[in-house]
Amino acid sequence: MLLLRARILGGLTPGGPTGTAYDRAVGGTTLLLDREDALDRVTDAPVDVLVIGGGITGAGIALDAATRGYHVALVERADLASGTSSKSSKLIHGGVRYLEQGDVGLVYEAARERERLRRLAPHLVRPLGFVVPVNSARSSVLLRLGLIIYDGMLGLRNVRRHQRLGPAAVQDAVPGLRRGADHGGYLYVDCRTDDARLTLAVVQRARRMGAAVANHTEVVELLRSGDRVVGATVRDRLSGAERDVRARWVVSATGVWADRVRGLAPGRGAGWLTPSKGVHLVLRGVDVPLRRAVIVDSGARDRRRVFLVPWGEQVYVGTTDEPHGGSVDEMRLDPPEAGYLLHAVNASFGTTLALRDVVGAWAGLRPLLRGQQEAASAASKDLSRRHAIFEDPVGLVTVTGGKLTTYRQMAQDVVDRLAAADGNRRRCVTSRIALGARGTVADGLGRARAVARTWGVGDDVAAALYARHGDAAPAVLSACIRDGEAETLVPDLPYLVGEVRWAVQHELGRTLDDVLQRRTRVSLRHASAGGAGIDRAAAVMGTVLGWDDAERQRQVDDYLGRVRAERGVVPLRQIETLRS
Ligand code: FAD
Repeated sequence: MLLLRARILGGLTPGGPTGTAYDRAVGGTTLLLDREDALDRVTDAPVDVLVIGGGITGAGIALDAATRGYHVALVERADLASGTSSKSSKLIHGGVRYLEQGDVGLVYEAARERERLRRLAPHLVRPLGFVVPVNSARSSVLLRLGLIIYDGMLGLRNVRRHQRLGPAAVQDAVPGLRRGADHGGYLYVDCRTDDARLTLAVVQRARRMGAAVANHTEVVELLRSGDRVVGATVRDRLSGAERDVRARWVVSATGVWADRVRGLAPGRGAGWLTPSKGVHLVLRGVDVPLRRAVIVDSGARDRRRVFLVPWGEQVYVGTTDEPHGGSVDEMRLDPPEAGYLLHAVNASFGTTLALRDVVGAWAGLRPLLRGQQEAASAASKDLSRRHAIFEDPVGLVTVTGGKLTTYRQMAQDVVDRLAAADGNRRRCVTSRIALGARGTVADGLGRARAVARTWGVGDDVAAALYARHGDAAPAVLSACIRDGEAETLVPDLPYLVGEVRWAVQHELGRTLDDVLQRRTRVSLRHASAGGAGIDRAAAVMGTVLGWDDAERQRQVDDYLGRVRAERGVVPLRQIETLRS
């Protein structure tokens, strides 16, 4: 263990010609004890709050509680954001959809949180224009009316007012579109994010505020004193070691696994949740040319809408929303889901895309509360996107439901509840706590570009690093240069080899899967999930974590096995034979 710590921290010697940006980051990072130290810390002394689950909700709770003076531990059984929080549509919604359902409260809440997140994490929450083509005068009038009301309601919280587009402007924004825009369309602006990195940014901030965070650490038992839950037994899934963590409060932010965690308490068998599955496909941008995101009809009898979002050289399309009866541990894309999305794209774009054209895919589960799903399918799929907080048994607080967009409010609601019970009068301050970037995007980009230029590195690389790392971008780049790892990991994707090392040393990346699926999004954006970059990443990680050849191979096999399982109907072998 000591050797591992020395290796992980060993790369932290300041270096680079200017030293400044890197030194600052090193100064900050050495304060962040690594995963192994975090585990020691939480077993040595009881904590106030033990958060189970390192998705966006658990991350938000850890940050909120830490800022209110609580001693916090967060444990995640797999990797940070490895549950639903890396499988979302990656949108920070302003709530325009909820207007259709007349849920004004949800519109306000979503818009308010979107604005906050744009301010707190400007590098990760960026405006994204959506084109909504219209095919009849009636739908044009209805949509216009809705957007006027939406703009009026949001006022200063709006990213930008909607815009009417003629047929030529729609064509210009979505050159590939062949159908559905006889009457032009509308442009409204929402926001996009990288869900896994947003979760990481919140976790990093919580760690800076003193929270002890351990990924690959599973709660396997709840500790009890009489009727009260007073902690948990956790298993380090990397070493197999088990230890007890005592806590005054245990908060389960375990999404679709919430029933299982609650079931660890005797007599709590009946489930609250009924998950709903949503899948996305990644396509090549050249196959579906678009400059803006676009919302099109599914072309199926359900008359739902499907969106396509440009993502560098790729485009992703989503999503489905169907009850999921199987195990919550096994997520894979099934043939009807892939068929549904491909049909929607082909119907609108006049293409003949098939499975062989799919670059990547992901599948996620929404934790819907029992009873709400029926209401959701009867009226609108989005009725059930609110969150719920329960305390049962005493000492175990469960929060589930909600959205990526509103995670901060969910966390505030949970910690308000703990604080009220404790008589803690400190108020929530997370709406003012920056998440990895200060100031405007222009300022942050300017700083990243200035450092990149001193190294002779292009503005595009600086911009890509800023989008992922915010104010740490100059430090990341300096580290990549110092280690001779500033080349791209996978051709045509914006990730640098040195980001792999950075992920281990600074971002709790411990498995190849952590790094290629969530610190970077290589697994989603490359037909063979990274190709030769997979071995390169394993080699870099191996030098930091001390992997021998057998362990490197095991990591590669495990990673590919997981990608293959999730892609399901789009097997890697088939993808590898795609035309280049
Ligand atoms: P999760 O991210 O699932 O986190 C729960 C964590 O608990 C998991 O990482 C799991 O490993 C861990 N865990 C479970 N059991 C244990 C244990 N015993 N010990 C330790 N850890 C444990 N919202 C938006 O705002 N915008 C969108 O565009 C959007 N799109 C979506 C699209 C789809 C298809 C889906 C399914 C959801 C979407 N959402 C979106 C909703 C959003 O993604 C979720 O609300 C959010 O990610 C849930 O986060 P969570 O932290 O509650 O759950």
